[in-house]
Amino acid sequence: MAEWLLVCHGLATLLVLVSFLCGQWPIFQGTFIHRIHFFITFGAYDYFRRFIHFVCGSRGSNALLSVEYYCCDRPNPIIQLLYLIIIGGTYYFIATSSFNYIPGYYLSGVHRYTSFLAVGVGILFFLLTSFSDPGVVNSANVSQYLSAYPYDNVIFSEKECSTCKIPKPARSKHCSICDRCVARFDHHCAWMNNCIGERNTRYFMAFILWHFLICIYGLIALALVLAGRMKELQVIHILTAYYGIENSFRKLAPFVVQWLLNAYNTQILIMVFLAVISLLLAGFFTYHAKLCLTNTTTNEPKEIK
Ligand SMILES: [Zn+2]
Ligand SMILES: [Zn+2]
Repeated sequence: MAEWLLVCHGLATLLVLVSFLCGQWPIFQGTFIHRIHFFITFGAYDYFRRFIHFVCGSRGSNALLSVEYYCCDRPNPIIQLLYLIIIGGTYYFIATSSFNYIPGYYLSGVHRYTSFLAVGVGILFFLLTSFSDPGVVNSANVSQYLSAYPYDNVIFSEKECSTCKIPKPARSKHCSICDRCVARFDHHCAWMNNCIGERNTRYFMAFILWHFLICIYGLIALALVLAGRMKELQVIHILTAYYGIENSFRKLAPFVVQWLLNAYNTQILIMVFLAVISLLLAGFFTYHAKLCLTNTTTNEPKEIK
């Protein structure tokens, strides 16, 4: 009973987390994940705003508005910190729960170091995408971008950015959060606190792909840790003898699962988390790779595809 409560709690937490972080992604359009995302990010906040206004009056409302302006309409490092907390936290939980079983029956000691290296490279891609120039268009380089991205007079005709007062090369866009024009603009990424454009799309793609691979690596390594523990403790042998089951995988499997959930619930929860995140990243990567291959961006109108 207790294990099932734990599993349900883990799944519910995961659902809320995924909805909150990724609910606005195009692959979730029209699903309940999108609706949960809308409630968490907008619906619940709306109630909160009314509550603040009710309790603190207009001064409270104004304070809240300036916080909202800072968090949502200006470049800020809040979500960047969240990324670091998530990757650091996951690595911390894996290290504290599983590193004392490494080296184990199926896993050599080198994975203590390679896992650290893998996370380090992931953070490096994160920093590269965050602090690289996305391809900012300014008066000095606008002529260069204009010849690289000429107007086709179908979707993109000669225009000037009303804020920057410089011509807008085809496929560029003014990012309202960063307040600058970016060439081959894809989207503004809150995770990176940077726009994704002409010059850093490749780092962004490498970031997504690498994090997908880290999740798969973590999943396999944890599975091997648990398999090793089962081998070392002779779990199959003991359960077979205890329940008097003759070599039947179907009958033995529930007892093995129960034993795993009892003895290694942290690892199981981390594995579920990694599996969900890797699926999301795979979906996101495929979506973006398709756009790259057809040479379009998230920003561009549907007709161009
Ligand atoms: Zn502009
Ligand atoms: Zn931006």
